[in-house]
Amino acid sequence: MDRILQSLIDIVGEKAVSNHAEEIWYYARDPGVMPPHEPDYVVAPRTTEEVQRIVQLANRERIPIVPMGNGMALTGLVIPLKGGIVLDMKRMDRILEVNERGRYVIVEGGTSQGKLKSYLEDHYPHLRHSIPDAPAATTIAANVAIHGQGRLTQQYGFNSDMVTGLEVVLPTGEVCRIGSCSMGPYWFSKGPTLPDLSGLFLGWLGTTGIITKVGIRLYPRKKMRDVEIFVTDRDDLVADIVYRVTHTEMVEDITVWFQPKPLMFKDNNHITIYLTGDTDEELEFKRLMIWDALREFIDSKDGGFMSVQPLKPMLLEMPQRGIAAFADVPKGGGFEYSGPITLVDQYPMYAEKVKQLASKYNVVYAGTARIISGGHAMMFGISFAFNRADPDMIDRVRRAVHEATEFALDLGGIPWKPNIHEQKLAMERMDPNTLRLMKMIKQNLDPQGIMNPGNWEVG
Ligand SMILES: Cc1cc2nc3c(=O)[nH]c(=O)nc-3n(C[C@H](O)[C@H](O)[C@H](O)COP(=O)(O)OP(=O)(O)OC[C@H]3O[C@@H](n4cnc5c(N)ncnc54)[C@H](O)[C@@H]3O)c2cc1C
Repeated sequence: MDRILQSLIDIVGEKAVSNHAEEIWYYARDPGVMPPHEPDYVVAPRTTEEVQRIVQLANRERIPIVPMGNGMALTGLVIPLKGGIVLDMKRMDRILEVNERGRYVIVEGGTSQGKLKSYLEDHYPHLRHSIPDAPAATTIAANVAIHGQGRLTQQYGFNSDMVTGLEVVLPTGEVCRIGSCSMGPYWFSKGPTLPDLSGLFLGWLGTTGIITKVGIRLYPRKKMRDVEIFVTDRDDLVADIVYRVTHTEMVEDITVWFQPKPLMFKDNNHITIYLTGDTDEELEFKRLMIWDALREFIDSKDGGFMSVQPLKPMLLEMPQRGIAAFADVPKGGGFEYSGPITLVDQYPMYAEKVKQLASKYNVVYAGTARIISGGHAMMFGISFAFNRADPDMIDRVRRAVHEATEFALDLGGIPWKPNIHEQKLAMERMDPNTLRLMKMIKQNLDPQGIMNPGNWEVG
C-alpha cells in the first residue's frame, strides 16, 4: 500500500481516508465554473490533534493540503489545484459551548450553519447567529475564512467581524489560539485589546492555517420577523432609498435585487427590508418609520411598496432556499457569481453592467446587493445561471464573471471569495508594499507553501 495512505490511516482510521476514484472525482470539483483537478487523498479528521498530525505529515512529505467545509463557495477555492490532500472538516462538528450572557458560541471547524441554527432553536430560542443564504450544510469556519455575510450583516458587519476567537492549526503544525481564549477560558474577543491576529487567517481562503474551533457572536432573536418590498424602476434612486432606510436604524437586513425572469420582476429594483420586533407595536412602529423615510419617493411616484404575500414564506426562510432556484432558469442547475464589495452609491453602474454582460455573453442574469454595516458598503452579486451539460454556456459564464470582476476592480471595488484569476487581478492592482507584507506573512506562516497552494500565491 501507498506509504502516505498508510500514514493517513494510522492517524484517522481506515474509514476516514480515501484515494478511491469515486471520492477523488467528487472532491476534484465544486459546483461553479472552475475546471476540476484531482486530489491524491481525501481525509476527514475528527479532532484537532488529528488535523495537527496530518499537517505535520504533509510538511514532512511536502504534500499540499486544502481545508474544505462543504465546498460551496462556488469559486473553486477547495479545488486542489496541485493535488495532495483535501481535508474534509465536516466530521468536526461539535457545538462546544454557548455562553448565554456573553452571547457567544464556540463550535468546531466543520460545524454547519444548519446544525447551529437548529441547536439554538432547541436550546436557546432567544438567541441567533448571522445565517448566510448558502445551503444549510455549509460550514461556519469556512464562511468566516472567506468573509461571508449573513442575515445580520446589515447591522453588525461581515460574519468574520462577529468572530470572538479562533483555534488554528498552523501550516507548520502548531496549534494556536487567537484572542481572549489565548489567555484564559473565555472566548469573548478575537482581538481588541490585544493585537488582532485573527486577520492572519480571516480572508486568507485556507492558505495560512486550518481553523479547528471558532467562537462567534450570538444576537437576540426577536419574537416576530416580517418583510416589506419597496420597488423602483430607477436604478439611480436605489442608493438614496437604502441610505434613508438604513438611517432609521430600524431594520434587520436589506437586500436589493433585480432579474428579468419571471416577467413580473423585469425592469424593477426590489429593495427587500426585513423587520424584527417583540410585539406588534414594535413592528408597527418600525414599519411606520420606514414608510415615513420613503414617503418622498412614494409621493413622486418613483417607487412604492409591493404586495409580498405570495413571496413572503420564501423571503422569510433562513437560509433563503429560493435563491438557488435561479440556477434552474436555463435548466441544468448551475450558477456562478462575482461578488465585489463596493460603495452603495455605485449601484446604478453595476446594475447596468450586469445587463450589458448578460446580453454580450448571451446568459441569464440576476443582480443582488447585500447591504453591509448600515450602508458602509455592499456586496454586489453579479450572477449568471448556466446549464451544466452545456460547456459553451459554462465558458460564456466564466468569461462574463471575469469581465465583471475587472469592471469592479476598475471602479475601486474589492473582490469577495475571489477565484484564482480574480486573486491575480487583485494582486496586480494592489499597492506593492501591501503585497510585500502579504508575502512576508504567507512565507513565514507557510514556509513550505503547502496550504491550499495556487490561492493567494504572492510569489
Ligand atoms: C445558493 C447559494 C447562496 C449563497 N449565499 C451566500 C450568502 O448569503 N452569504 C455568504 O457568505 N455566502 C453565500 N454563498 C457562498 C458560500 O456557499 C458560503 O459562503 C459558504 O459559507 C461557504 O461555506 P463552505 O463550507 O461551503 O466553504 P468551502 O467552499 O468548503 O470553503 C471556502 C474556503 O474556506 C476554506 N476553508 C474551509 N474550511 C476551513 C477551515 N476549517 N479552516 C480554514 N479554511 C477553511 C477553504 O479552503 C476555501 O478557501 C452562497 C452559495 C450558494 C450556492
